[in-house]
Amino acid sequence: MKPAPFAYTKARTLKEAVALLAKHKDDARLLAGGQSLIATLNMRLSAPELLIDINGVKGLDGIAKKGKFVEIGALARHAQVERSELIAKHAPLIALAMPHIGHPAIRNRGTFGGSIAFADPAAELPACLLALGAEIDIAGAKGKRKVKADAFFKGLFETALRPQEILTAVRIPAADKNTRAGFSELARRHGDYAIVGLAASARADGKGLADVRLAYFGVGATPVRATKAETALAAGNVDAAVAALDLDPPDDVQATGAVKKHLAGVLLRRVAKQLMEAR
Ligand SMILES: Cc1cc2nc3c(=O)[nH]c(=O)nc-3n(C[C@H](O)[C@H](O)[C@H](O)COP(=O)(O)OP(=O)(O)OC[C@H]3O[C@@H](n4cnc5c(N)ncnc54)[C@H](O)[C@@H]3O)c2cc1C
Repeated sequence: MKPAPFAYTKARTLKEAVALLAKHKDDARLLAGGQSLIATLNMRLSAPELLIDINGVKGLDGIAKKGKFVEIGALARHAQVERSELIAKHAPLIALAMPHIGHPAIRNRGTFGGSIAFADPAAELPACLLALGAEIDIAGAKGKRKVKADAFFKGLFETALRPQEILTAVRIPAADKNTRAGFSELARRHGDYAIVGLAASARADGKGLADVRLAYFGVGATPVRATKAETALAAGNVDAAVAALDLDPPDDVQATGAVKKHLAGVLLRRVAKQLMEAR
């Protein structure tokens, strides 16, 4: 299928992009890597009158350590993040997740901000942000604001972004020597969206773990934290954590809810092992 006709414009600055969004309101969509948007246009799931290309906006593609945080610009490509030594050192969970996002061609174009703004419930990065307690920077006609990942993912493909706002960057607490990260997913083929996945972070605390955060994806409309399992894992009991898994995944085209729940337990055992091993 071909998309419905649309006009195209290229914003050169953030200010220009914000002004264009404010002017065209619901008739416009931002175009970042196009890896999700173009498919929705071609399938006519979306028919905006105007695409505002933000790929030329300067200053939105950086990756930097700023104090105790790692900041990733919205336009940083997945491939750029995947190859970043700074990410490998200071944001190891993101580094573990990156190779699971689609295939190299998709990672060459797809952007970090596009994945977070699109908020596919089976996507890796939204769950990583939830596991890391990240913060999302947003700009709009009324100024700038920040939203915690815990409050950002609202429903199926629905986020705290208002229609005329732009996600500009994501801030992740930088890892230190006590930070532990774990990631695993089950997909039919490598690069497919996950049937179920788990992104996790924790802090080493003596021989055990503290501040355990388990964020599942592919188990509902948004990434979901398994808080009872987090408590059990922090107490050092993996079997109890699996038994406490407070998830109720619905059936979808990939698997039944019962299968997903079983797989969530399998992933928890794998990820618990990663969290408990010092790197
Ligand atoms: C075959 C295939 C397989 C894939 N597999 C996976 C996978 O396994 N895991 C995964 O996570 N993803 C997967 N993807 C999607 C990929 O990660 C996309 O890059 C990502 O979902 C969207 O990023 P994008 O930059 O391409 O955004 P676009 O497609 O350009 O935009 C997506 C949506 O986000 C909005 N948007 C984009 N940037 C911003 C911004 N800065 N502020 C506000 N709104 C914005 C757009 O208006 C649009 O509504 C796959 C894609 C394809 C085609």
